[in-house]
This record gives sequence, structure tokens and C-alpha cells, in this order.
Amino acid sequence: MLLYREPLHRRTVLKALLLITMISGVLFCILNTQRGVYALATIELLTAAYSLLLYRVVSRTRHLDAWILAYLLPFLSIMMFALAQPGTSDSIFVWVFLIPQISYLLTGVKRGFMITGFYLLTAAALFYNRYQDMETMPAVSIANTVICAIAIWSFAHYYEQSRERYSRRLLQIAERDSLTGLLNRMRLAEVVDSEIRNAETRGQTMAMILLDLDHFKQVNDCHGHPAGDHALIYVAEKLQSAVRKTDYVFRLGGEEFCILLPGADRYSAAEVAESARRELEQGDFCMAGKPLSLTASFGIAVSGEDGHELVELYHIADQRMYAAKHGGRNRVIADDLEELHAAAFAVADEASELKY
Ligand code: GH3
Ligand code: MG
Ligand code: MG
Repeated sequence: MLLYREPLHRRTVLKALLLITMISGVLFCILNTQRGVYALATIELLTAAYSLLLYRVVSRTRHLDAWILAYLLPFLSIMMFALAQPGTSDSIFVWVFLIPQISYLLTGVKRGFMITGFYLLTAAALFYNRYQDMETMPAVSIANTVICAIAIWSFAHYYEQSRERYSRRLLQIAERDSLTGLLNRMRLAEVVDSEIRNAETRGQTMAMILLDLDHFKQVNDCHGHPAGDHALIYVAEKLQSAVRKTDYVFRLGGEEFCILLPGADRYSAAEVAESARRELEQGDFCMAGKPLSLTASFGIAVSGEDGHELVELYHIADQRMYAAKHGGRNRVIADDLEELHAAAFAVADEASELKY
């Protein structure tokens, strides 16, 4: 399953912008009242109040993108309204240079491009309308303003484009295992916590399956480390194809994997684990043209019944996985009863080994 996380800088940039809008809103309200531009002064005071309200909301909200638009579009529209007022100062047009920066920083490349395009063109039309009379504003000043706006727009566009590309790449490196491409251990805690919370609010459970390949050291010893790596990639593909798109598969390290099944109970988790176990056992992995048997031992834990946190679930699933190892490997242990049977089997096995 793909995971989306908001770019971290957006909340900070928005809060800084809200602070600036609050202060400048009050300041310009006073100045415009003195100049007699009452409509604009009232709007500026309302903008300052709206910014204060939003400042409190954006610190906590989980819907930052929606709030960004709820702020940015009115903010830019008010800017256009101010540009259209004949009584305002000529220097009001310097605010236009902010449009590319804040649009790209707050909304990313695609939305940033559309918002900047729309508002810069509107500002250009208002600028033209205000200074049609070339005696007031010489052509060279117009050329300077237009070129400067285009330059700022291009810098914002190319900077944000490469920032998005690199942050996607860094995120991929940080949360994915480089050999198999599966999610790594670092992401496990974050995903387990949020999926347990989601499942609990829906009155469901979340299942965790831990698995460890059996006698994997022998694969490396007999066929070499690169062959072992190929086997790990093969296992990762098999596990990924055994689950739904909404499930998660992690490589926790070495030859240990974890599957998370949001919304699954013990019974359906055992079914998924059993079908993955069979897939691996009957799989078609070949080494030097010869089929090579790969098996794994599975342990299952279910949220609510076995614990409410990652540590508890991991501990129980790990215990059951080791019970599956001691019980003869290549098997699934999903509950206490199966764990007891496996332990009894292991004791009997050890006792019979001691006799001979
Ligand atoms: P058991 O059935 O008890 O789990 O036996 P095992 O041999 O699988 O377990 P053990 O933990 O003794 O060995 C795990 C082996 O996995 C050791 C190491 O050689 C191998 N291994 C760990 N990480 C990698 C890796 O990234 N690539 C390769 N090729 N092998 C790895
Ligand atoms: Mg192993
Ligand atoms: Mg191991």
C-alpha cells in the first residue's frame, strides 16, 4: 500500500504567512481608513481576524491541504481586489511577486502552477488597466516588472519540481528496504499505530503475521550470498502477491518479514498466512536450473485480543513464530492452543532424540 505524508514545511510556511497576514491586515486597515479606502480597510481587518482563526486550526488539523486552499484562494483574491482599487498605493503591486513563492511552497508543483498562472494573469490585466496611460508608467518599468515576475515564477517552479523529486526519492530510501523494495522496520511502528487506531474506531481488529525463513543459512552456505539475495527478492514478491493492496508487507531485517492486515481477524489472518506458506513451499524458485525449496515459519497476533500496541503484538507474534520453528518449521501458529501443541510436540521430539 502506498503511504502519503504531507510535506513537513507546508504547516510552518502557512503559519508564518498567517502571522504576516495578521500583522499587515491590522496595519493596512489603519492606513486605508486614514486614506478613506473603507471597503478595503474592512476586508483587511476581516482577513486579519480570519488569519488568527486559521492559525489556531492549522496547528492541529489533519486536513492541511484543504485549509491551505481555504486560506490561499481568499488571500490572493483579496490581493486582486486591492490591486483593482484606484485609491491604493502604486507600490501595492510588489505583493504580486509573492504569488509564485507562496503558491508553490504551499501547494506543490501542479496546483502551484495553476494558481500562479491564474492570479499572475489577473494581476497583469489589472496592472494594464491601471497604467494604460504610458505617461504614468514608462514601458521600461512595465518590462522590468513583467520579466521579474516571470523570473520568480520560473525559479519557484523549477525549485519545487526538483525538491518534490528529491524528497520522494529520500522518502523511498528512508522507508524501503533496498534489496526487496518492501517497507522497512522504521515504518512498522508508524503504520501499526495508525492502523490499530483505524481498526478500533471501526470496531475491527488488525492482524500481524511474522515469518522467518527456515534454514536460510543453508541457502547462503550451499549457493552463495547472491543466490540468497535472489531468494529474498523472490519471497518478497510471493508475499506481496499473497495479500490485498490495502495490506502491508515489511522486511524487518535478514530473512524475517512482517505482514499487516488491517481489518482482519485471527481466522482470516491464519488463512492468508497458510496460503503464503503453501505458495512458498510449492513455489518455483530455481537455483542453477534446479528447484530450491523455500519454507517459512509463521506466528500471528491480533490487536485487541493479543495487545493494543506494537511491542505487545510483536512479542506475541514472535513467540508463536518461534513455537512454529520448534514445532517442526514450515507451519503457521495463530493462537495459544496451537502454541501449546507445538511446545508439546517440541518436548516430545527432544525426548525421543535423547533416547537414541
Ligand atoms: P531457522 O530455520 O532457525 O530460522 O534457521 P536459519 O538458518 O534461517 O536462521 P539463522 O538466523 O541462523 O540464519 C539467518 C541467515 O540469513 C543468516 C544470514 O546468512 C542470512 N541473511 C540475513 N540477511 C541476509 C541478506 O540480506 N542476504 C542474504 N543472502 N542472506 C542473509
Ligand atoms: Mg531463519
Ligand atoms: Mg532469522
